[in-house]
Amino acid sequence: MKLFDAHTHTQFSAFDKDRDAVIKRALDQGIGMINVGSQKDTSVKAVELVQKYDGVYATVGLHPIHLEKSYHDPGELGYEKGFTSRAEEFEHDFYKKLALNPKVVAIGECGFDYYRTNGEEIKVMQKQALVCQIDLAIEVSKPLMIHCRSSKTDNAYADLIKAIGPYIGRIKPSVMHFFAGSHEDADILVDMGFSFTFGGVITFVHDYDKVVKKIPIERIIIETDAPYVAPAPFRGQRNEPLYVKEVAKKMAELKNMTYEEICEVTLGNTKRIFSI
Ligand SMILES: [Zn+2]
Repeated sequence: MKLFDAHTHTQFSAFDKDRDAVIKRALDQGIGMINVGSQKDTSVKAVELVQKYDGVYATVGLHPIHLEKSYHDPGELGYEKGFTSRAEEFEHDFYKKLALNPKVVAIGECGFDYYRTNGEEIKVMQKQALVCQIDLAIEVSKPLMIHCRSSKTDNAYADLIKAIGPYIGRIKPSVMHFFAGSHEDADILVDMGFSFTFGGVITFVHDYDKVVKKIPIERIIIETDAPYVAPAPFRGQRNEPLYVKEVAKKMAELKNMTYEEICEVTLGNTKRIFSI
């Protein structure tokens, strides 16, 4: 293994026609992957894939946007198809059974999404679902894969730090998927033991340059979040794990390291964090 796509979704329907080819072309180039579950069916599908391939791992969990029924705009996700999500409640026993598979390496993605939220009620629901998933992560002794997205007026990171704080020391050092918070939040999360994934966005905007430079390299891992938000030069196309190479190239530039060093260090970090 040379490189790792630490947060991807090749189990999603966007890959129904050519999933095997997509996974194999990454694996053939020494790129491993973690397929991240977002609700029951995508968690089950992620676990199905780990049986089929070496170098492919999974997480299981309930994404905050799946706590309520809503439509997701295709433009925002950078992929052609929009989708309507079903409302789901976190069912501990269902997810625990999946989580016990040794190739399930984390619980999530779970957390807060205030970008699409309307009201206090859904925030409370998101917190409840998060706490349930923290409990499960402690129970099965696996880290969390956290999704956190603020709105213009509401800092989801502040609430996340408050919600997770009491569990630090009991949960395994966890991962903040695609960190988009402030430097202050980054400092607090580093102190709480978090590592951070960065993906395609860093290849085409400069908004994250400073925070990437600031976070210690031992706490950085790379991802695609495929099928969403493909890196340059593939913008607007369906994303896939192979393109994590482009993220690694950009990370090398930002961290003033060679491409080979970035591959080696982020691979080592991924293995350490997820006990692979
Ligand atoms: Zn994701």
